Parts: sequence; C-alpha cells; structure tokens
Amino acid sequence: MSVSERIQKSMAEGSWIRRMFEEGAIMKQRYGEENVFDLSLGNPIIEPPPEFRRELRRLAEQPLPGMHRYMSNAGYDETRAAIASQLSLETGIKFTLNDIVMTCYAGALNVVLKAILNQGDEVIIFAPYFAEYVHYIDNHYGVARIIPTDEQFAPRLDALENAINEKTRAVVINSPNNPSGAVYSEERLHGLGELLGKKETHYGTKILLISDEAYRKIIYDGLKYPFPLHHHTQSLIATSHSKDLALPGERIGYIAIHPECHQREELVNGFIHLNRTLGFVNASALMQHLVCHLQAVTVSVAEYQQKRDFLYEHLIEMGYSLVKPQGAFYIFPKSPLEDDVAFVRELQQLKVLTVPGRGFGTPGYFRIAYCVEDRVLEGSLAGLRQAAQKFEPG
Ligand code: PLP
Repeated sequence: MSVSERIQKSMAEGSWIRRMFEEGAIMKQRYGEENVFDLSLGNPIIEPPPEFRRELRRLAEQPLPGMHRYMSNAGYDETRAAIASQLSLETGIKFTLNDIVMTCYAGALNVVLKAILNQGDEVIIFAPYFAEYVHYIDNHYGVARIIPTDEQFAPRLDALENAINEKTRAVVINSPNNPSGAVYSEERLHGLGELLGKKETHYGTKILLISDEAYRKIIYDGLKYPFPLHHHTQSLIATSHSKDLALPGERIGYIAIHPECHQREELVNGFIHLNRTLGFVNASALMQHLVCHLQAVTVSVAEYQQKRDFLYEHLIEMGYSLVKPQGAFYIFPKSPLEDDVAFVRELQQLKVLTVPGRGFGTPGYFRIAYCVEDRVLEGSLAGLRQAAQKFEPG
C-alpha cells in the first residue's frame, strides 16, 4: 500500500531545513565533524538553564504522588495558573488558568487551526515564514494565503488589506521571526490590529490573530517585546519552551487565548477536545511539572546576542546585504546569486550549510542559524567570505 497522493506531493516538496541538515550529517561523516560548519537547523546548543536541572532533581528526589498518571486534557491547573500569572505580569492582560491549554508544541498550532477551519477557509501568513505553517494549514483543509513583508521583513499592511476576504479565518504572525529575526514594532502591530478590526466589521466575520511566540524571550539590545495581543482581542498565543528554555526535544508548549476573545469558552473547549482527538492528548506530565516553576526563567540571551553581533559584523564586512536581526537566532541575508539554491550549494561546496530562502517562501535570500558553538561560527567565516568574493554580493 502506498501513501496517499496528497502526502506523496507533500513529501516530495520536503523541507529544505531537514534536507540541508541531513546532507550535512553525510558530509560530517565524510570530511569529519570539525570540518563541516552546519548553520542549517534551529537546534539550540545552549543547555537548559540551571533552574531546570534543579527542578528535575527536586522532582526525582521528592516525586509527587500520581505524577505520571492521566490528567485533564487541558493540562495541570497548577501549570496553567503559573503561565496565566506570568503572562498577566508581562502583558498587563488578566489571564486566568481557563485561558491556557497545555500542548505538545507544534500541536498548539494544529489544535487551533483544526478548531477554526472549515474546508477552504483561508489563513494568511507573511513570507518569509516558518515552512511548517503551510503543512499545518493544509492538515486541516485550509488554504494558505501568502503575502509579502517589507524590506525590514515587517508585515505589509497594504498587501494584507488586499488579501483579506470573507473566507479569511486567521492571520498567523511570528515575532521574533524565523527566519528573518525581525521583531514586529508596536506601530506595525497597531496598524495590523486596526485593519483586522475594520475588515471584521466590513465582512461581519471574526479573524483570529494567531501569534507564534516561540522566540518571544530571545530579543536583543534591551528591546521590550511588543505583544500582538494588545492590538486585537480576537487573538491567541501559540508557543513553546523549545527555544526560551532550550527544550526542543521535550515538546512542551501552550495556547494562551485573549481573555476577551469572542466565544473564548467555546474555542477553549474545542482546543481541549482536539488535544485528545488529534492524538497528542496532553502535554508531557513531567515537563508540565517542571515548567510550572520556570515561567520567569530564560536561557542566556546575552550569549545569543554575542553570536548575532559576531556574525552580523563579519557578514557586513564581507559585503553581504542584510537586515540586523532583533531577536530569535537566525540571520537572513540576500543571496548574492539570484538563484538562492545555487548559492547555498556553493556554500555547501565550501562546507558551510545554510538553507535557501525559498524554503521559507522567499527566494533570493538564505538563512543562517547561529544557535551553534562559537567554533562552528568562526569556522564558517572562511567559506562565507570565499563565496562573497566569488559573487560580490550587495
Ligand atoms: N514556530 C517557529 C517560528 C519555529 O521556528 C519553530 C521551530 O523552529 C516552531 C514553531 C516549532 O517549535 P517546536 O520545536 O516547539 O515544535
């Protein structure tokens, strides 16, 4: 028996990130780990903060009765309350535990999209985007409407205005952004919220603003995070602790819905139901016990900022054209060759692995993930420089 035609097509398109990562693994075997500079995957090398180990040890030494049993599909009340309390503090919006649903992370986006989409409903995303969004939307028979960002990688509101119609059910945004590192400004988010409100009135519909905040806590230069939820009440946060606590293998995340969201209770009940029927059922019990006490903790952002500064300064000096990232741990320079895949292949010849911009819906660029050891960053410079000299970027 073969897989369905739909899935065959999806598999053939593949993921550029995974492809480069897997080719990199083969190259490392051939040339030696130390001779290949892998900047392809957003897999943080920073270890979880010491508080994580402290909590882990505490739980191992003083286990809670029943701590590995089935639970409510929404997650533990204690964890949901801890998240609500921290988010209330950060946003000034009064969240309660009833606004929070614990998820296996990417599960959060799938649960939300499944809950709101009828076949053929449209979901707007801004390019460059995290490639899995297209699959997640397709999973639930939605249609992805992809619209461009401006030269700073911020959402273009004129394009958004033209794209919204009576079928638009949601807009997904991701700030700080993977792959551009852009953090959306208060002003742009305000404009976005106003536009969504205007269109809701015009069409007599509701448009859910889904804010993917996987990198919210990884922002630089003392910037204060502009919360999208301040600008549209029909909104929610879908996020995880993969990056802020460096736990991507543990799949722990949550949905936080705006307490004033229209039909909030029905939506939350839908999310809880879908946690079960989509098969995730509930987020890991152990991880929920741990992150409950780690809501105010983050990995060392200064360490990432140092890496960003190091790489940014070298790339500029080599002549690459790029926007300085304000968050996350990616840089998204213009490809010196119009064909970004050809350029990424050139870099690969020089043992530097990156990802072509078309993997994020934006050909003509390439992504560097700098959440790697300094040794790898330093080692990649020779190849990046050689490629720059060959093609004279700018
Ligand atoms: N959203 C964005 C923007 C990401 O970059 C990633 C991972 O790289 C995810 C979601 C998925 O995160 P998780 O590993 O927690 O599923």
